[in-house]
Amino acid sequence: MIKRDGNRVSLWQANIAPYESRNTINNNRYFDIAVIGGGITGITTALLLQEAGKNCVVLEAASLCFGTTGGTTAHINTLLDTPYTTISKNFGDENAKLVAQATNAAINLIKENISRYKIDCAFKDASAYLFAQDEKQAEELGRIRSATSQAGIAVHSAGNIPVPISFKQAIQVPGQAKFNPVQYVYALAEAFENAGGVIVQHCRVNGINENETADIETTQGNFRAERVVYATHIPPGVNLIHLRCAPYRSYAMAVKLNNDTYPENLCYDMYDPYHYYRTQMVDNEPYFIAGGYDHKTGHEENTQKCLMELEAHVRRYFDIKKIAYQWSSQYFESADGLPYIGKLPGHTDLVYVATGFGGNGMTYSQVSALVLKSILLNQDSPYISLFDPNRLKPVAGFKNFITHNAEVAKDFLGKYFSREKLHELAELAPGEGKVVTYESEKIALHKDENGEIHAISPTCTHLKCSVAWNNAEQSWDCPCHGARYSHDGEVLTGPATADLEKINMEELVEK
Ligand SMILES: Cc1cc2nc3c(=O)[nH]c(=O)nc-3n(C[C@H](O)[C@H](O)[C@H](O)COP(=O)(O)OP(=O)(O)OC[C@H]3O[C@@H](n4cnc5c(N)ncnc54)[C@H](O)[C@@H]3O)c2cc1C
Repeated sequence: MIKRDGNRVSLWQANIAPYESRNTINNNRYFDIAVIGGGITGITTALLLQEAGKNCVVLEAASLCFGTTGGTTAHINTLLDTPYTTISKNFGDENAKLVAQATNAAINLIKENISRYKIDCAFKDASAYLFAQDEKQAEELGRIRSATSQAGIAVHSAGNIPVPISFKQAIQVPGQAKFNPVQYVYALAEAFENAGGVIVQHCRVNGINENETADIETTQGNFRAERVVYATHIPPGVNLIHLRCAPYRSYAMAVKLNNDTYPENLCYDMYDPYHYYRTQMVDNEPYFIAGGYDHKTGHEENTQKCLMELEAHVRRYFDIKKIAYQWSSQYFESADGLPYIGKLPGHTDLVYVATGFGGNGMTYSQVSALVLKSILLNQDSPYISLFDPNRLKPVAGFKNFITHNAEVAKDFLGKYFSREKLHELAELAPGEGKVVTYESEKIALHKDENGEIHAISPTCTHLKCSVAWNNAEQSWDCPCHGARYSHDGEVLTGPATADLEKINMEELVEK
């Protein structure tokens, strides 16, 4: 089993061993390109660049697929979460066609890689079915249908859908796909290493000094590179991009059914948030995967409830034999509905980024690899300006979440708190956590399965928002920009680079 940035086990991580890097640094710490992050985006980008003759290194803080790639549901779509109606409205009809083209190219890249490297990742072509259940949704479906078709994607009316749920109207969009994302990433990682690339795992990048080259500070010493790509899902540090990306959490489950009615195709309803369904073969066994109940990170008090609601929803329509896996993970929504791929705003042309994929990171990771390859090899591509992160413009209605968290906890450095008092304050069941106020200080308390209390500062080390407890994944999540920490405050995912401050619990210091 591989590790992930959450406590629950996903279908993908359970059924595979950790990736073992084959090539070593060999005292060479100078590369053409350093790709930071070993998820689907980082590994695909590194492979394309290495194949094109660049000498690349991947620096991964944990292990391959530790991030959202290990917690995805891996629908591969050209029919996107941001409907083509919105893309046309925000970017114009011609650009909507370009987005459709780019996502088609992404699926072709996956197919080419699979055939070229003979990858066994249970890839299958599929159709996507989008169904409306009332009049209002049907009207919206009509608009989505014509904008999708106008963007150049084939759409048909559907008389049937792959799931036993009643509906009013539905469309079928062929040309989608599904696969096992971790098997795909592992095979690309192997191809990357076979081409001479180096993967350094358990190597967190703490900062980059932009001089003539990029000097990269990591937990395994310094590296140098001509160019750096942040494929970290969200870049670490403080950047304009953090104010234009909102973190969301989504919930998924993989179940065995009592009958053989596993749907072959991909299916989506039109609620907000919507439910999503598909089937995946893993080790020759079919698993029905369902997901939904998305919310802004840190904005749901009881995240466990979201998993229970998802389960109740699935039980309503499907005859479940066994719930095999239930998990959740995080994605980042961009302000205007398209990802940010290209030069990192506010930096020199040494540093690049790919983020803001929403729920379409399987496709957009491949788009990112193609776009970043064009940029870094100085090749023309119509997609470069389309996805340029420096297009950043304020979008009406998109909230800058930082204003919601003005109340900041104080610095605890050198201060001690009574262990007994904190135990008293922590009226918590094992596995629970909460932020309490004690002597006008805010303290984040967590009780582990052995009844031991862990006390930390709730102030996120990124931009000083207050973290919230996520009981489903046993983590402290920041509602502002999505930094996440383990139960005792260690960074799980950026943009934070420093752990939450630990609180001393030995004796009570009278003030
Ligand atoms: C529940 C859920 C379901 C989803 N379903 C779908 C779907 O069906 N189809 C779809 O297209 N998309 C889906 N998505 C979105 C998709 O999974 C993501 O967009 C995609 O996996 C992101 O991949 P990534 O490689 O960019 O990031 P990640 O997979 O998160 O990888 C980033 C890596 O960077 C590493 N890292 C971070 N900081 C540092 C640092 N400082 N130094 C070194 N390494 C660092 C992390 O450890 C991590 O391994 C879903 C998302 C969620 C939450």
